[in-house]
Amino acid sequence: LTVTDLVKNTLKSIESTQNDLNAYIAVNQENALKKAAELDKNGVPENEIWAGIPVAVKDNIVTIDLPTTAASKILENFTSIYDATVVERLREHQAIIIGKANLDEFAMGGSTETSYFGTVKNPWDHTKVPGGSSGGSAATVSNGDVIGALGTDTGGSIRQPASFTGVVGVKPTYGRVSRYGAIAFGSSLDQIGPLTRNVRDNADLLNIIAGLDEHDMTSSDREVPDFASKIGEDIKGMKIALPKEYLGEGIDEDVKQVVLGAAEKFKALGATVEEVSLPHSKYGVAAYYIIGSSEASSNLQRFDGIRYGYRADDVKNLEDVYVKTRSEGFGDEVKRRIMLGTYSLSAGYFDAYFKKAAQVRTLLIQDFNRIFENYDLIIGPTAPTPAFKIGAEIDDPTTMYMNDLLTIPLNLAGLPAMSVPAGMADGMPVGLQIIAKSFDEVTMYQAGAAFE
Ligand code: GLN
Repeated sequence: LTVTDLVKNTLKSIESTQNDLNAYIAVNQENALKKAAELDKNGVPENEIWAGIPVAVKDNIVTIDLPTTAASKILENFTSIYDATVVERLREHQAIIIGKANLDEFAMGGSTETSYFGTVKNPWDHTKVPGGSSGGSAATVSNGDVIGALGTDTGGSIRQPASFTGVVGVKPTYGRVSRYGAIAFGSSLDQIGPLTRNVRDNADLLNIIAGLDEHDMTSSDREVPDFASKIGEDIKGMKIALPKEYLGEGIDEDVKQVVLGAAEKFKALGATVEEVSLPHSKYGVAAYYIIGSSEASSNLQRFDGIRYGYRADDVKNLEDVYVKTRSEGFGDEVKRRIMLGTYSLSAGYFDAYFKKAAQVRTLLIQDFNRIFENYDLIIGPTAPTPAFKIGAEIDDPTTMYMNDLLTIPLNLAGLPAMSVPAGMADGMPVGLQIIAKSFDEVTMYQAGAAFE
């Protein structure tokens, strides 16, 4: 098989399902084939395991050879003049950027229904959502078009769609991967990470994108280990915590059973699993929607009709340019976040909302630190339910927000977490969430692979 054959097959697979799934906003046909021909001519480097392999990139990560829209009208037809660091690294390792995956507008959502370019469908059942916001990345991996994709995760946007579509999704430790070139949503929460069909590929893809970057001052200078180095080692004696809050109110009975089954499997592999408590996790969603929206309201100020993308017609003056462009360019969910965030940051309300949320965040971090004094890993469900029907939650933001009840605390704490397929409920896949200590992705991958 030549790289050209592989790329052609991938393009064919994408083309044959795009009408149904809508997983892509743009496909990189010409450049992908050009790159493939080049690799076929010059030879595929032996030590580069992603060389010649097609990878999908979520469309809130900038690329020079394709537009980057963040699934928003306000960035329709915007093309970046630089590549995101993760994209640069994929290219350095000779991977092929096959296309830009659909998402919720500006990564705000949990179902990929807020995309300006239309809803993405779950390959398992086209009447159901693929989760979100990295729904396009998850759907194309789940559908078998590609073996790897990049997503972003601010409150669960890699892990929840991974759970809904039966793939492996990882949010690395905050700072592990450069955010340079990822369109900022909540800068203290955002991380880029891989979605793949199995744990091994996920570790290998993270190996490529991780590490210090001078363009992102929050990227960490911690040494980057081989994330796959402990895959295959047994997990005898590993200490695993199962928080009782993660099996409590609002979690589907079927999902609980899958997680309890997973706990038994870990025990059978020689680990211990014990119940613990994360008393502040119930405040996670509330704190997240204040912090995340506050940061978003600030980050999204740059979309003003002057600098990027869309500009409204028929404007009378500068203020009119801003107001009309933003009114027409942003969708409802994005506007909701901007209003919530602006309110929380305003002088009269800062102490009551933003400051309070920041304090809750500290309590949550302390909960995790306490657990990790005695345990190697924490497990629980990734999402409270399997994939739901398209249309079922989109008009009810608070129900939609609760989908990330179990993923949000890890963004607030900056910890690495993975969703790995663990069973089925209601004919749909269910993911197990595996959470590790800060910068200990190696143990997370070891346990994920042992479980898989
Ligand atoms: N669903 C959450 C939200 O809407 C998380 C999104 C994300 O992680 N990007 O904010």
